[in-house]
Amino acid sequence: GHDTGFEWGKALKGQMKRVFGIDNFRLCQEGVCNANMDGRDIVCVMPTGGGKSLTYQLPALLGAGCTLVISPLISLITDQILHLREAGVEAVMLTGSMAKEEKYDAMRRLRLLAEGKLGPREGDAIKLCYFTPEKLANDKSFLGLIQKLYESGNLARFVIDEAHCLSSLGHDFRHDYQKLHILRKQFPRVPIMALSATCPPLVLKDLVKTLGLPPIVDGYNADDEGTVYFTSPLYRKNLHYKILAKPAKSAEMYQLMVDYILEHHPNDTGIVYCFSRKESEIVAQQLKELSQNRIRTGTYHADVAAAQKESLHKAWRNGSVRVVCATIAFGLGIDKGDVRFVIHHSISKSLEGFYQESGRAGRDGKDSDCVLYYRPQDGTNLVSMVATERDGQSKILSMLEFAEDVEQCRKIQFATLNPSETPPHRYFSQSSNLSIASWSTSDSSALQRCGHCDNCLRAQDTIHRRDVTLDTWKILKVATIVNRAGGKVTLSGLADLARGLGGGKFEVNQGKRGKMKCALDLEAECGGKVGIDKIEIEHLLIQLILKKYLDVEYHQTAYKGIVYIVPGQLAPTLVHLSRKDIE
Ligand code: ADP
Repeated sequence: GHDTGFEWGKALKGQMKRVFGIDNFRLCQEGVCNANMDGRDIVCVMPTGGGKSLTYQLPALLGAGCTLVISPLISLITDQILHLREAGVEAVMLTGSMAKEEKYDAMRRLRLLAEGKLGPREGDAIKLCYFTPEKLANDKSFLGLIQKLYESGNLARFVIDEAHCLSSLGHDFRHDYQKLHILRKQFPRVPIMALSATCPPLVLKDLVKTLGLPPIVDGYNADDEGTVYFTSPLYRKNLHYKILAKPAKSAEMYQLMVDYILEHHPNDTGIVYCFSRKESEIVAQQLKELSQNRIRTGTYHADVAAAQKESLHKAWRNGSVRVVCATIAFGLGIDKGDVRFVIHHSISKSLEGFYQESGRAGRDGKDSDCVLYYRPQDGTNLVSMVATERDGQSKILSMLEFAEDVEQCRKIQFATLNPSETPPHRYFSQSSNLSIASWSTSDSSALQRCGHCDNCLRAQDTIHRRDVTLDTWKILKVATIVNRAGGKVTLSGLADLARGLGGGKFEVNQGKRGKMKCALDLEAECGGKVGIDKIEIEHLLIQLILKKYLDVEYHQTAYKGIVYIVPGQLAPTLVHLSRKDIE
């Protein structure tokens, strides 16, 4: 038996089958539908491809009035409209790109609905209307129409797709989304539903506050006031995560990627995310050349002209371009389900960003690869790029922590992106094993290792464990000496210095008197050099930054910013370490 005790239970399932051809709810869909039918404010965080759309489309169909959906991109909206019309659902969109007549017709029908000239349950009534946040901000007559729908009781709910775009603490902040704070103020009786695939705790808090939603309620017998929060584990078992070492030499890197693609995905669709616009062009060119055109690449970034972007999308859809080399500008609008691999040529600016970008693989549920090429140097390069962004540095550290980890399951690492799961509440079916069992806090499967990411598959004997206490002490000592002398070192500068390279010299800027070279006597100060290779010491430096033994300091120069490594907050521990382990 499958009965939530809600009067609409049967109708929901019936419509789901009849209109969308779907037999059973997935993840937390049923609870979300129930809460929607009940007119609650909702935040719903479900993984990409999890089936968020159904959770408002089904209630939209069943209830009276029109559901207004705010979505960031026209391409996403167009997709949804096509899908809904195929299913025979009355849905319209209002975007800048539409033909005049089409827009006029949509507005006319909405107006009829507001004026009560279209019965809300008549076939002709519009059940869903999609638009972008810009529309709300810029189109006064549209806002007036929403007001009319509101006053006539024909506004069923607002749905905000990609709601993390609301928060400047998230990885994809959009100014136009800020305007959405007016919804609750201007239309206080209309429930609001916020949807996202990544919404870390701080972003969630910010989002609830910005929208003016009541606090999130938890517990099975929640009161009927607060915002109901739903989440499903973000883990997608068809995605196979792997972090590979990135060589310092670009040419080697390009060859590695070509070999990887030709070996594992010779005829597949994929994305290669790059650090910068320039890099995405170079990578596209290199993949093409080194593979003798067997890898058909295209380029996408913010500087690519709109017409070119459109033709790239088309070429990608029809297969004449297989691999798109892009910056993160290539994102939300991607409607291709069969992306078999996403390669990160460089780390992302945050773990959330990485989750989203890599998550563009395998929307169709089939096995797909997510590969990250990582080298520590990319970490400090990125820090200099986000130096002016709020929280930019701490976000990168979350990414670096993920990348440096060779043991923890990637699924469990990603779980930190999700606020803690809410206990089951009354919107879930009590009799259904599916709904409650998989969402109750007693469910331990969320914490079990996935068994198929690189860290799960790694043989234990390939992990090298070594005591780095002495090396760490030397590194911190070198950093402290340089710092006390007023000098500055970069990540690789510190690595070299500690390894006794470059003649043991470092530079101190003396203002008007110019630069002075200082000598470091490794033998006398540290009892010799650090005996590990360049790559390994760079990894160690990043780990020391993550543990706050070292810190990074950003300096703007004439050409670009440079990140220097300086002793961190925990430097006093150094003394302790040295006494115990060295003297
Ligand atoms: P999201 O917005 O969460 O990324 P979508 O709403 O686009 O995901 O849904 C992804 C795909 O899953 C769609 O093709 C949709 O029809 C399908 N789908 C949604 N719910 C179910 C379900 N309960 N059972 C089977 N397929 C579903």
